[in-house]
Amino acid sequence: MPECVYCGQKPVIITERAMCRKHFVRYFEEKVRRTIKRFGLIGRKEKVVVAASGGKDSTTVLYILKKLGYEVEALAINEGIHGYRDATLKDLTEFCAQNKIKLNIVSYKDYFGFTLDELLQKKNLHPCMACGILRRYLLNKASQGYDKLVTGHNLDDEAQSIMMNMTKANVSLMARLGPKTGQIDDARFTPRVKPLYLCSEKEVATYSYLQGFQIKFTECPNAAQSFRAHIRDMLNELEAKTPGTKLGIVHSFLKLMPSLKQMPVAKEMNYCAECGEPSGKSVCGACSIAKAATQVVD
Ligand code: SF4
Ligand SMILES: [Zn+2]
Ligand SMILES: [Zn+2]
Repeated sequence: MPECVYCGQKPVIITERAMCRKHFVRYFEEKVRRTIKRFGLIGRKEKVVVAASGGKDSTTVLYILKKLGYEVEALAINEGIHGYRDATLKDLTEFCAQNKIKLNIVSYKDYFGFTLDELLQKKNLHPCMACGILRRYLLNKASQGYDKLVTGHNLDDEAQSIMMNMTKANVSLMARLGPKTGQIDDARFTPRVKPLYLCSEKEVATYSYLQGFQIKFTECPNAAQSFRAHIRDMLNELEAKTPGTKLGIVHSFLKLMPSLKQMPVAKEMNYCAECGEPSGKSVCGACSIAKAATQVVD
């Protein structure tokens, strides 16, 4: 039976080393603190908002940033997905009240006039494609005025994103990945940072369990259709056979990142003719979806 490498007690997790509860919690929090420092993610005086969903990743990052002494608020997007988002938002509301964190909730229904469920009933769109465009738009819009938008993306998420872009030869999109993104010099873009960048899904799940966070491990009903889900399953299978695969993918990417970021940006930055937000096209993706949905609803 393996023992904690630091104290010889019973381990709660075995990754590259076995650790007991006390040493794992210390190791994990230190890893997040070092990631913030190594990549220069958040300044001490900066005002940050965490894109929170009530899931384990964003709850963990919210909790640790508060514990590390950052001035932090939570921002949740309610897409309007029946039987899923209501439950996770209930947990998040309780968590924020307990931890004295201000919670801001913005909904598709209030902002665009339709829930994701209503949109998908009217329009034959890929759920995650439409949902992703609308969510990124609202997160950016609602985080203006904060210095950083923090997301709960972990090592597994990043390895998946790298592979998704690799398989589709989306090199310019891959160049936008990394622990710090959206560094475009425009006040209408809030830079995004990922303090859990080097923490695996297993580590985050263990930490959130040990801290007793009330997390429902329900999955969005649309998730199974996503390309990400296929890549995730493939990487999990590879990781089980060859431990260290995901970390290897992310480390390779970090080595390539400086060259990727030097690549010329394909399109000049424009502003959406409908809403004025930064966009690569004359009308941004969110306005195009909202327009199409309104035409059908009317
Ligand atoms: S799984 Fe897809 S539809 Fe569900 S919340 Fe995520 S992006 Fe939206
Ligand atoms: Zn120990
Ligand atoms: Zn627009």
